[in-house]
Order: sequence, then C-alpha cells, then structure tokens
Amino acid sequence: MILFGGTFDPIHRAHVRAALAVSRALGDAPVHLLPNAVPPHRAQPQASGAQRLAMVRQACAGYPQLVADDWELRERGGAPSFTLNTLKHFRRLIGRRPLVFVVGADSFAHLDRWHRWREYAALCHLAVVPRPGAAPAPLRVQRAFPRAGGRLLRARPAGRRLMLARPVLDVAATDIRETLRAHGDSPLLTPAVRAHIHRHGLYNQSAHRGDTADN
Ligand code: ATP
Repeated sequence: MILFGGTFDPIHRAHVRAALAVSRALGDAPVHLLPNAVPPHRAQPQASGAQRLAMVRQACAGYPQLVADDWELRERGGAPSFTLNTLKHFRRLIGRRPLVFVVGADSFAHLDRWHRWREYAALCHLAVVPRPGAAPAPLRVQRAFPRAGGRLLRARPAGRRLMLARPVLDVAATDIRETLRAHGDSPLLTPAVRAHIHRHGLYNQSAHRGDTADN
C-alpha cells in the first residue's frame, strides 16, 4: 500500500503525476491520497478539509490506482494528527505487507523536523519525488532510509527509500492559489478540479471577477 499525504490546497497536476509515477514504479500498486488536517500554529489551508477532499476525489476519478482517503480528516474528529499516527494506523491495517509513504524532495529534505521521524523507518518505506530547487536531505535522514529499487521495496515491509529518477512538474499549490486569485484559472489543475473550484468559488476568485476585496 502507498500513502501520499498533503495539504492538497488544491491538489494539482504534479501531485497526480507523482502518485501515478510511484504507483507505476511499484507495480501499479494503489496510492491513497490523504488530505491532512493542519495544526493551528501553521498556515491554515484556504479551502476546508471537506473541499480539499472533494478536489482530491475529483482528481482521482478515472485513475483506478488512485484512492481519495479521508482517514486523516476523520481521525480525532478532524483534529490534526501526526504522520506517525497515520503510519501506525495503516501498518496495523495491512500487517507485514509493504507500506510506502510518498514525499516530495522538499519534504524529504526536512524530514528530521517531523515528529519522531526516526520511528518511520520501522513502519514504512519512503518514495521521494524530485522537486527542482529542493535541498539535499541531511545525511542522517538519508542513512535512516537506505536507497533501494522498487523490487526491494515490494519484498520488505519498511525501511528503504525509492528515489524517483525525474521530477514530475515544477509547480506548487502556493503559486496556483496566487494564479487563481489573480486570473481566476490555472492550467496546472486537472479539468475536474478546475470545474470544482469554479463551481464553489474557491480561492478568492472574487478578486478576479473585479470585486474590491483583496486587490
Ligand atoms: P504548497 O505550495 O501549498 O506548500 P504543495 O504544492 O507543496 O503546496 P502539498 O499539498 O503541501 O503541496 O504537498 C504534498 C506533498 O506533495 C509534499 O510531500 C510535497 O513535497 C509534494 N509535492 C508537491 N508538489 C510537488 C511537485 N511539484 N513535485 C514533487 N512533489 C511535490
């Protein structure tokens, strides 16, 4: 099983491509995309958890290997939960089968800031998607997850790191939110997600329509 957690505010083409690339590298295994609840001390997503989940569902439609998973949003009544907690939950669910957690290279570079990150290696593999401009991860992080190929990841439950060879697309949700605010649309979203955003008036498109707010 493959898990891909994120804010997904909104989910964009790079997220979808990353999920598909990891799935392909691991024999078309299913990827669960988990929008997360965000702790109050961090920048809050602009869209609600329900809206972010709805967009993830739209983006996954048509890809049988992609699953929109509301576990992190449901967990503890929507209160933020540590990734460690998520990994333990899915580990309990699947027994000794391989569990893979997908991260962009920027997240991997800061893995040692995550709560009890050293415990991840006993629970999951990592699949790292290159991201232009991402700093290399500290050696202690790299060493905690020795690099391996897809075959080894599929043969063991946890503790290795698959590095995807190529970046998927150089895009960030932050830039997309800005484009939506300024222009009301972005080609870096899938058509279904664009339609959802328009239907629900998300990401302050009122600014684009000429309202006075936030100009
Ligand atoms: P923001 O700009 O709001 O920080 P984001 O586009 O980085 O958003 P997140 O939802 O925060 O998206 O990311 C979820 C996961 O997807 C993270 O592990 C992140 O590193 C990864 N990711 C996001 N965009 C890319 C990309 N273009 N290439 C590779 N990985 C990505």
